[in-house]
Amino acid sequence: MISIRSFVPVVLVLLAACGPRTLEPDEPYECERCNDWNEAHEPFRIHGNTWYVGTDGLSSILVETDDGLVLIDGGLPQSAALIDANIRALGFDPLAIKAILVSHVHYDHVGGVAALQRLTGAPVYTSPAGSGPLASGALAPDDPQYIADSDEGNFPPVRQVTAIGDREIVSVGAIDFKAVHTPGHTPGGVTWTWQSCALNTCYDVVYADSMSSVSATGFKFGTSGAAGALRTSAAAIAELDCDIFLSPHPFFFGMHDKLERRDEGNPFVGQFGCMFYAESSLDWLERRLDSEGD
Ligand SMILES: [Zn+2]
Repeated sequence: MISIRSFVPVVLVLLAACGPRTLEPDEPYECERCNDWNEAHEPFRIHGNTWYVGTDGLSSILVETDDGLVLIDGGLPQSAALIDANIRALGFDPLAIKAILVSHVHYDHVGGVAALQRLTGAPVYTSPAGSGPLASGALAPDDPQYIADSDEGNFPPVRQVTAIGDREIVSVGAIDFKAVHTPGHTPGGVTWTWQSCALNTCYDVVYADSMSSVSATGFKFGTSGAAGALRTSAAAIAELDCDIFLSPHPFFFGMHDKLERRDEGNPFVGQFGCMFYAESSLDWLERRLDSEGD
């Protein structure tokens, strides 16, 4: 049973699941790095209930609960079939997915969500600022990467989107997923956090949203308010209880290096991942502001 805990009562309407039972790939998105990002990657357990089912360059996380599965992010449109295959390879049934959570609404993280939503019938959750663009299949005009009169960055629109407020919780079975709003990279960015318990040890997992200050030509972080949003979001991420740090690009959390060190305990567990990530995001932002020149 899915429920949303909030100080503000939220009425959730769940439409009946009626998607097809095999995944029909959407038209592939083409970009300079897309083929590299979309290389297949073997799925693996990160810790306890938390599994990596994404591609080589785009994260997708599966969480097992006592009442079904939760999927976070869906890569490119052409990633959906790989994610579906990874979930099945682990022995899970994608039709057991009860909720799909979204970090931020860019084609490389939500491109596959429409297909995965159709496959599973699962409702999709993101922030209020992200839910409109997610349902429309196009970037918000205040997104740093928005280009006027262009369909660049568009993606298959997503149905059954529910907006989740800052620090509100989506519960599936006994697992609570808290949405921490972390705007700046996009106006609607969300960092999701939950607990993973195994062998009597519980860890706080943080899927910290992208914090990079990249944009379309002409956008200025310094004068748009996006710089202030990134600073506030970095502080919010740094303050989270964070034993396992994950993020939408495996590069950000050193996935490949950590997989090489799996014989030294669990390299995904560590105290400082969120703090280092927040600090490096602020360094990146300062370099960006210097280059903007005002
Ligand atoms: Zn992005």
